[in-house]
Amino acid sequence: MDGNKIDGKKVTAEMLVEKGYRKYSGEEIDIYYNKDICAHIGNCVRGNGAVFEVGRRPWIIADNSTVADDIQVINTCPSGALKYIRKDEQ
Ligand code: SF4
Repeated sequence: MDGNKIDGKKVTAEMLVEKGYRKYSGEEIDIYYNKDICAHIGNCVRGNGAVFEVGRRPWIIADNSTVADDIQVINTCPSGALKYIRKDEQ
């Protein structure tokens, strides 16, 4: 699933917050997560446990990997619960 789009449209911070996503800020990328959409499949945790660790607070730390890897893992989220916005594209 495209981690920077919803219904084919590029996401904005305002759009994500309005839809109930919570922001996890990084230096170069912000990751957004919506717990109400999450299907608990675990692709994120298996994809990179340094970035996504259930039980840690915050459970998402974008800067624990590269932007490219964050995006690659986010795109494996099957439910759309994870989205991202690259800061260099804002
Ligand atoms: S990959 Fe997506 S649906 Fe699966 S646990 Fe992570 S956030 Fe939830």
